[in-house]
Parts: sequence; C-alpha cells; structure tokens
Amino acid sequence: MSTSIEQVSQKYRGLRFNRIAEQLPALLSQAEANEISYLDFAEQLVDHEQQQRNDKRLQLNLRKAGFPMIKHLEEFDYRHQTSITKRQLNQLLDFSFLDDRANLVFIGPPGVGKTHLAIGIGHKAIEAGYKVLFSTALALVEMLELAQLKGELKKKITSLSKFDLLIIDELGYLPMNRQANYNLFQLINSLYEYRSVIITTNKNFTDWGEFFIDDNVAVPIVDRLIHHSHIFMLGGESYRLKAKRVK
Ligand code: ADP
Ligand code: MG
Repeated sequence: MSTSIEQVSQKYRGLRFNRIAEQLPALLSQAEANEISYLDFAEQLVDHEQQQRNDKRLQLNLRKAGFPMIKHLEEFDYRHQTSITKRQLNQLLDFSFLDDRANLVFIGPPGVGKTHLAIGIGHKAIEAGYKVLFSTALALVEMLELAQLKGELKKKITSLSKFDLLIIDELGYLPMNRQANYNLFQLINSLYEYRSVIITTNKNFTDWGEFFIDDNVAVPIVDRLIHHSHIFMLGGESYRLKAKRVK
C-alpha cells in the first residue's frame, strides 16, 4: 500500500513540522523536476522548517520589543545628519558593543534622528538574535514606580535585565521626582556592565542634574552610563522641518 502525500504531511504536522507539512507537495515536485539527491532533499526539508521558525521568532521578538514605529537604518539619510557617518554606524552592527556590555548615547535637539537610529539599531539587533526592549524614559519610570508601589521593584528590574539591550528614549524631557530617580538608579545600577543601554536625550551630561533633581543620583547614573559607552552628539536642523519645507 503506498502512502499519499497528504498522509505524510499529516505525520509532519503531528510532529509540529508545520512548514514542511504545508510545503511538502511543492517541495516534492520541485525535487523531482530538478532531480536533486536524497541528501539535498533531506536538507531542503529541514531548512524550510528552520527558516519558518526563525521568521516566527523574529516576529515575536519584534513585538516584544515594543517599538512605537518601525524605522530602518537603510532609510537614514547621512547627508542630512552629518554628525554620524554610515561607517561609524555600520561598525556598531557587528554588535560587539552588546557583547562588551557597552552603551550608546545619542544626544541632540529634537528631530535630528536620535529615535530613528535607536530603533534602527534595535531592529538589527533583534535580527541578529538579541533581545531588545524599547521604552520612553517616561513609560519606564512609570513602570518602575508601579512595580515599586507593589513592592516588586526588584522583580521588575530582574525581568528588564533579561533583555540584552534596553532602549531608553527621550531621557531628560521631564524632571523626575526623588523616588523616580532612585528607581531609575537601581535599574541602571543592575544593568551596569551586565547589559547594554541605548539612551536618547536632548540634554548634555552636564545638564542631567536638571532632570535627576538630585545630583547625588545624577552623578553616579551618568558615571555608569558613560563608562564604556559610545557617545554621539547629533546636530543640524530637524528633519521634520526639512520635510515640511520640501513640500
Ligand atoms: P529625534 O528622536 O532626534 O527627535 P527622530 O528620530 O524622531 O528625531 O526623527 C524625526 C523624524 O525624521 C522621523 O520620522 C525620522 O524617521 C526622520 N529622520 C530624522 N533624521 C533623519 C535622517 N537623517 N534620515 C532620514 N530620516 C530622518
Ligand atoms: Mg526622539
């Protein structure tokens, strides 16, 4: 009795090789048409399954990262933003900075591409297999405050430490109260030399005291963040204004 393709597909499905199950008829007829070897065919099947699992993991990790929007580095215009070169940026994309637990800090006025770069790098890091979380500083501080009120600050920090890279966007737009300072300090302290952070901010380090209220907190936070970090001072005019003018 010969088995049908459908029956074989069912068996693959039973073992959760869903991609092979779906594609089996097409893969079989392609293999027959191209007269590929048994070994090549065996490899093709497993490659198909692997590919789909990788895609799924990528989609899941992108969702988990919580990017507010998708930005690609390929769309970044280095002619407009001349404070950073494509070469400098590409050097970051071997992700040795993540392996070295180094940080990136993008400093500059509004609209110069800080968030675009942070999301673009985060996206590439996920593609390279790293776990990334994006949060605005405000949302992060609120998240920590909520955890702290529930007596779960430590637990929250532990769960945030599972990410290889934490992107904190827009640090310094609003001043924080003493408790928020303290919570953020606890987080930065736990991540120090253990995980990487990307910070975007409109304020120079010397002005960080303004939003950390307490210099006793600002100084050690700045210290930890800039130790082992690549700092990019972005300048120029806002890309948003340029886009408006062109219209
Ligand atoms: P920032 O975070 O510095 O305030 P954004 O990264 O949000 O600025 O940039 C504002 C808008 O302009 C975004 O839509 C972003 O994609 C775009 N943008 C900024 N700089 C560039 C650039 N050099 N090339 C392409 N798009 C840019
Ligand atoms: Mg921004």
